[in-house]
Amino acid sequence: MSLIVQKYGGSSVADAEGVKRVARRIVETKRAGHDVCVVVSAMGDSTDDLIDLANKVSPEPPARELDMLLTAGERISMAVLAMAIADLGMEARSFTGSQAGVITDAEHGRARILDVTPGRITQALADGHIAIVAGFQGVSQTTKDITTLGRGGSDTTATALAAALKADVCEIYTDVDGVFTADPRILPAARKLDVISCEEMLDLAANGSKILHLRCVEYARRYGIPLHVRSSWSRHPGTLILDDPYGEGSDMEAPIITGIAHDLSEAKITAVGVPDELGKAADIFTAIADAGVSIDMIVQNVSAGDTGRTDISFTLPQAEGTKALQALQALKSSIGFTELLYNDKIGKLSLIGAGMRTTPGISAKLFRALADASINIDLISTSEIRVSVVTRSDQLEAAVRAAHTAFGLDSTEGEAIVYGGTGR
Ligand code: ASP
Ligand code: MG
Repeated sequence: MSLIVQKYGGSSVADAEGVKRVARRIVETKRAGHDVCVVVSAMGDSTDDLIDLANKVSPEPPARELDMLLTAGERISMAVLAMAIADLGMEARSFTGSQAGVITDAEHGRARILDVTPGRITQALADGHIAIVAGFQGVSQTTKDITTLGRGGSDTTATALAAALKADVCEIYTDVDGVFTADPRILPAARKLDVISCEEMLDLAANGSKILHLRCVEYARRYGIPLHVRSSWSRHPGTLILDDPYGEGSDMEAPIITGIAHDLSEAKITAVGVPDELGKAADIFTAIADAGVSIDMIVQNVSAGDTGRTDISFTLPQAEGTKALQALQALKSSIGFTELLYNDKIGKLSLIGAGMRTTPGISAKLFRALADASINIDLISTSEIRVSVVTRSDQLEAAVRAAHTAFGLDSTEGEAIVYGGTGR
């Protein structure tokens, strides 16, 4: 007998039928003799609907109240799921994040889990019940207010609980069969991966892949929790995310390219004509940091000719664009740049693979594939196991397709299936 944490995403419980289907799967796991703790997301697109509602009431809803509102979505799904399980003759008890002992910091909308004290969950399991926990939420250690973990945060609730309960495995049930070489929603030729390393998964998640919440993968790695991403609609084995699948003693070799992530959520700011003097980059990025804006890529050109001026470009989340522009505009004369350009029609493609470390020529091959597809590259950045490029947003899908084919990732087993979700 083992202890299994199962997380079901919003598309898996989008309607009453979905809730009943998921309930059957949970009961089956319990009847097979396992202890089961379930983490559930809000039904379908209901988190987006709640955000729309808040924005209709107020242009800038207070963060505390927005969190209170959003956590209602998960409370609905946990309760109806418990009802559906009861109907199948088993006892389930639902718990809010706070009741389940998910203790966070006080950063509304992006709280971090500080501790998990799952006394009530352990008790429910000991009583032979199925425990159901509302994902994506916790309670602040200091203010005692209800917090949320950021969009997609139920994955992190699941891994954090799995770690605290010392679960044998954390299963993440979603609307596709696992982690794919690219997002099957835009690329039906994407291939399902059987295994991926935490390191690669972190890079995919950090660069726009939405299959798993970034912090969920960090947690899994830190506490050695095996993650299994799979579909709640099918019986196919999904993707295992393991700390070191290619390490010593393994017969698997790290693939050169594991997958491609794409991201349409960023924008680019360029400060034009920055004086090429000591400390100017520091001034710019201090202002950005003080505004609480997180940045991604940075490119500084050498100053052209003898103008003594240079352009500095960087990318950031679109949602933080206005804040960043305001912060920089206020320093225009003191820093001395001539103008600020803003472009949110950009897309980022990231090629990721642990085998890149030992294989030369990856960037060259990517750039050639994009050139052959008539796609112009705007910015480039690389790390040990990743090459990222920024393109025009309307060319991003074509870029993903071209790179996927060039690196031999296209599936030979037919099109990837997307079982549910509206993709909203
Ligand atoms: N319901 C939340 C969201 O839509 C959390 C989650 O689904 O993981 O982002
Ligand atoms: Mg998700």
